[in-house]
Amino acid sequence: MNTALAGIGMTSQRTRARMIDRLRAKGIVNEAVLAAMGAVPRHIFVEEALASRAYEDTALPLGFSQTISQPYVVARMIEVLLAGRKGLGKTLEVGTGCGYQVAVLGQLTRDVYSVERIEPLLAKARGHLAQIPGLQVRLKHSDGGMGLPEAAPFDSIIVAAAAGRIPPELMQQLAMGGRLVLPVGGNEQYLYLIERTPQGFTESRLETVRFVPLLPGVE
Ligand code: SAH
Repeated sequence: MNTALAGIGMTSQRTRARMIDRLRAKGIVNEAVLAAMGAVPRHIFVEEALASRAYEDTALPLGFSQTISQPYVVARMIEVLLAGRKGLGKTLEVGTGCGYQVAVLGQLTRDVYSVERIEPLLAKARGHLAQIPGLQVRLKHSDGGMGLPEAAPFDSIIVAAAAGRIPPELMQQLAMGGRLVLPVGGNEQYLYLIERTPQGFTESRLETVRFVPLLPGVE
């Protein structure tokens, strides 16, 4: 390990605590979410050259024109999934990227799946996730726009890339009472929350966000 990274290792507990303070200041109130974010060392998931910026509340490049999501957005989406519920239950993440968000989800539920369409990125994520002790997540190289039919239905679905419209496959793979949170749009994107109720689906539009696009197929 080089000295820069060793230094980050020593201070990461403290910088992570500062990140949690910033998340609180921005309005994240769910203690379970804050604890999960505090438990995952984000610097493991970013390129070494960017490791010193790992705890800033900002998106960072992770290669293949993709980005690791901003901590606030990760926290906010998970908080929306959890609001008024006991837990996440069986969860699907679409867009593993470097694996950061699924590591956070893995702190909150034992039953989490994540799919990624870019194979080398998924390989990187596996390497990162292997460094988190006790973490249990199931990863698959596939097009998450189709959901993950073999593991459906899900209590929670979280999408890390913006779709032009809400993929009906994802709605169909929600369990009764299940929730889907995802960014929708092109240049202007909003976070949407979809809930499956006995009366049908409810839809709420939340704040504006900025995500990479949800793309079809695999590479
Ligand atoms: N969850 C990541 C964010 C990754 S960025 C984090 O914690 O930082 C979004 C990811 O979604 C990219 O890696 C991109 O390749 C992936 N993606 C885009 N469209 C997809 C699709 N249809 N199926 C699966 N993954 C997709």
